[in-house]
Amino acid sequence: MKEYKISIIGAGITGITLAERFASNNSKVLIIEKRNHIGGNCYDFKDENGIIVHKYGPHIFHTSYKEVWDYLSKFTEWIPYQHKVLGFIDGKFVPIPFNLNSLYALMPLKLAEKLEEKLINNFGYNTKIPILELRKTEDKDLKFLADFIYEKVFLHYTEKQWGIKPEEIDPLVTARVPVVISHDDRYFQDKYQGIPKDGYTKMFERMLENKNIEIRLNTDFKEIRDKIKYDLLIYTGPIDEFFDYKYGKLDYRCMKIDFQILDIESYQPTAVVNYPNDYDFTRITEFKKFDVYNRSKKTTIGIEYPGNSGFKAWPLLNERNKEIFKKYWQEAKKLKKKNIYFAGRLAEYKYYNMDEAVKNSLDLFNKLLYGK
Ligand code: UDP
Repeated sequence: MKEYKISIIGAGITGITLAERFASNNSKVLIIEKRNHIGGNCYDFKDENGIIVHKYGPHIFHTSYKEVWDYLSKFTEWIPYQHKVLGFIDGKFVPIPFNLNSLYALMPLKLAEKLEEKLINNFGYNTKIPILELRKTEDKDLKFLADFIYEKVFLHYTEKQWGIKPEEIDPLVTARVPVVISHDDRYFQDKYQGIPKDGYTKMFERMLENKNIEIRLNTDFKEIRDKIKYDLLIYTGPIDEFFDYKYGKLDYRCMKIDFQILDIESYQPTAVVNYPNDYDFTRITEFKKFDVYNRSKKTTIGIEYPGNSGFKAWPLLNERNKEIFKKYWQEAKKLKKKNIYFAGRLAEYKYYNMDEAVKNSLDLFNKLLYGK
């Protein structure tokens, strides 16, 4: 097999998956990482109370791709965990995504019954409707419900989260959390779901345990880009940075997290509680609740403040940014003939979940190595 000399820029989930695949196929891989740790925004660590904390906000692994689950399962065992989120709405904790249980928790019984019947008649039981779709309904009762959910769940959360209104962002963003016409309180319905038993960082360390991989942390690609030699370069950093912002800066929504260690066993009913309307933060994560085995007497919480400062967390998918990205992507595609590829959430400016990042990396590897 041909020996590649591969440089991968960025040691996040995309870079690590590609590095593992190439290194296991006898290619020498160099990874360049700006931060002082691997794992990108999936990075986690065990704190002084033995609680695994997700430094960049809650990461719950879920996938319907058996291939992805089987692949990662070579590097980790899983804590069984089915993610449930509660939203603090009108002084009550109710299931998010908004479902029939949320409806009954927030509305008077007779009204809830009438709306439930209309929802089921119009959309069917066990279906999911994005809020922006539900708002288009012509039925006056369903319109009332859609406006209620829009106001109580989406409007203010999205303003805090993105700094803009739900209709000003790509509809796929709010469609991630549709209105659910069933009593299933889970956030995700994927067949495979869990939290890596020793954390994401440990899983990544095992993926990188290979003599063919060399990692340089604390290294800015910009400063060494003229010096490194490669047969194949895979860039997973921000695409606008790669091209020196020549078409303008892409906006990323950033976040600051206020971590607190509390001298109590339990802080909130579920691992994640959303605060769509109250306070300035969007959600609070209580990390020990991801781990059914954790017996710590204390608990660690992370309170999230999205904004324009902190770390880059999400691509801000509005019209302006999508237009700018298209121009960069045209340039990026041209570089394939120079064996430069762009992959991952920052380089493709996409709101990928972790499993999609892994799936795309496995696919890219197969394409590059076997041409399929
Ligand atoms: N969202 C909302 N209220 C909620 C939960 C989500 O308005 O209680 C909207 C909001 O715009 C958010 C998007 O749905 O950015 C996607 O939510 P998700 O939980 O998928 O975001 P992530 O987990 O990536 O932060």
